[in-house]
Amino acid sequence: MVEHSGGQQPRANGHSRLAALADRRFDLIVVGGGITGCGIAREATLRGLSVALLEQDDFAGGTSSRSSRLIHGGVRYLEHGHLRLVFEASAERRRLLRLAPHLVQPLQFTWPVYRGARVPMWKLAAGLTLYDLLALFRNVGRHRRLSSKAVLREQPALRRDGLIGGAIYYDACTDDARLTLAVAIDARDRGAAMINHARVHGVITQNGQVAGVEVRDELSGATVNLSAGVVVNATGPWSDAFRRLEGPTPTPNVRGSKGAHIVVPHERIGNHGALTLLSPNDGRVMFILPHGTYTIVGTTDTFTSVAPDETRASETDVAYLLAAANGFFPDARLGRDDVIAAWAGIRPLAAVDTGDSVAASREHAIAVTPGGVVTITGGKLTTFRVMAADTVDVALRRLGRSAPPSRSQRTPLGWDIAKSREAVVDEATRAIRDPTLARHLVSNYGIAWPSVWRAIDSEPGGAERLSPALPYRLGEASYACRAEMALTLSDLLIRRTRIAFETRDHGRSAAPRVAVHVAPALGWSAAAIAAEIERYEAESARIFTVDPG
Ligand SMILES: Cc1cc2nc3c(=O)[nH]c(=O)nc-3n(C[C@H](O)[C@H](O)[C@H](O)COP(=O)(O)OP(=O)(O)OC[C@H]3O[C@@H](n4cnc5c(N)ncnc54)[C@H](O)[C@@H]3O)c2cc1C
Repeated sequence: MVEHSGGQQPRANGHSRLAALADRRFDLIVVGGGITGCGIAREATLRGLSVALLEQDDFAGGTSSRSSRLIHGGVRYLEHGHLRLVFEASAERRRLLRLAPHLVQPLQFTWPVYRGARVPMWKLAAGLTLYDLLALFRNVGRHRRLSSKAVLREQPALRRDGLIGGAIYYDACTDDARLTLAVAIDARDRGAAMINHARVHGVITQNGQVAGVEVRDELSGATVNLSAGVVVNATGPWSDAFRRLEGPTPTPNVRGSKGAHIVVPHERIGNHGALTLLSPNDGRVMFILPHGTYTIVGTTDTFTSVAPDETRASETDVAYLLAAANGFFPDARLGRDDVIAAWAGIRPLAAVDTGDSVAASREHAIAVTPGGVVTITGGKLTTFRVMAADTVDVALRRLGRSAPPSRSQRTPLGWDIAKSREAVVDEATRAIRDPTLARHLVSNYGIAWPSVWRAIDSEPGGAERLSPALPYRLGEASYACRAEMALTLSDLLIRRTRIAFETRDHGRSAAPRVAVHVAPALGWSAAAIAAEIERYEAESARIFTVDPG
């Protein structure tokens, strides 16, 4: 097992990372390190299985770093009658607010209603009552109907013309990449071998049944074969590509739906907290979300057959999102130059026969291929724990093993649930004497904040900011290399910190300083630093370049 916690992480040496695993036979090999795969690895270790997880890129390198970052019941799924999903997701929201309060925080939404809207006042009130009911009235707060005047008190910059009322309701928000990472770290600390930058490129069969995988370290080129009782395909949008490693696939398991977001300066929109809106273009539900000094506008929802690696926002997506924001906040007059970043992800929806990506269910589906690979598709960030518990049940049956029931529903995630979030922020503020930094460290690192603070405080240059307007410090980067399995600049600038989403140059100007700072931890020579900076340029362009059209 590769030990990473707290101590010095081994270099990005593919041979040593993987070779140690080759002698072992795992109960479970999980392919894919998004929220789904990391959730499964954690769940399996909690139930006593030996696990290796292999991720071709980085944890949350796919869809799990490109969501709307909501932990939500999914109010819009009510329209399509997905009551079971809303019930399940509401329960998960409640659990995550308790088990990981640093990463999952309550968020108040304003939903304004305009004359002639597709969802009129009565329907909204009925829907939100049902939403509260499905949360067993245990959401952070109950919804409230608002007059148009009250809506404007909440959101003074909103368009007044045609406004007839609205409502307030509650959900929760998170940092999707850091939530995924917290799950990965917890799985590792419980004994799972969590290996990023390791692509599975073949499956090994014995008597017609899959008994292992061929894996290549993407950083060194080293390859090894690993064996396991059960292989789980948790590759999200890549699911059907992975199935093809077993042989031809007659029907797809996944239908990809592309969703784009943009980030604009908060002061240009002037939203107070979050809003749920109906697109003036096609009546779809959209979100305006607060994000520090920025506002995130999203999302689109269109079926796509573009390869997941090549998924980016297009100029059409950007124009659609800007038009919606300007339609509701007319004084914003947002133009293309106001867009700080635009990106897209693919929802790996379980393939069902529906022509409408918006109405397609977000429920998950588990299938076992004739070769015995357990494939999970669909689901949401919010419901990852339930998806994991269901998948591990299937894996246990295939292993012919019994195990104690799942206890993930009461196992804290990087947090001490005896303490409130505010109490820990106070503690950190007293130690650090910088309330903003204290809040940032507690939110991102939970109970690990003192170790991150030590890195910031004690390393030469550790307190230096990555970007003047953002809270990230160089000490966080070296901590991430030592304790959070970061191995590349992309890991550090796109997912451990989110600077790539929050700066116009997507963190490129910070890249050289970060590379030099983490070089000792990762064993990078001057040549390796130069190569890594070049690689980051290409990687950030792959994700953040806006496609024409
Ligand atoms: C625009 C958008 C907004 C969303 N908003 C929300 C939201 O607000 N709340 C919510 O609950 N859900 C939301 N979702 C849904 C949620 O983000 C996804 O359901 C979830 O992130 C999917 O996770 P995953 O692990 O299944 O897939 P991914 O995160 O894509 O992970 C799959 C991983 O498999 C890896 N992989 C692929 N092939 C291989 C291989 N051969 N070897 C090794 N690794 C491999 C990939 O690199 C990838 O990291 C949203 C989705 C989108 C697109």
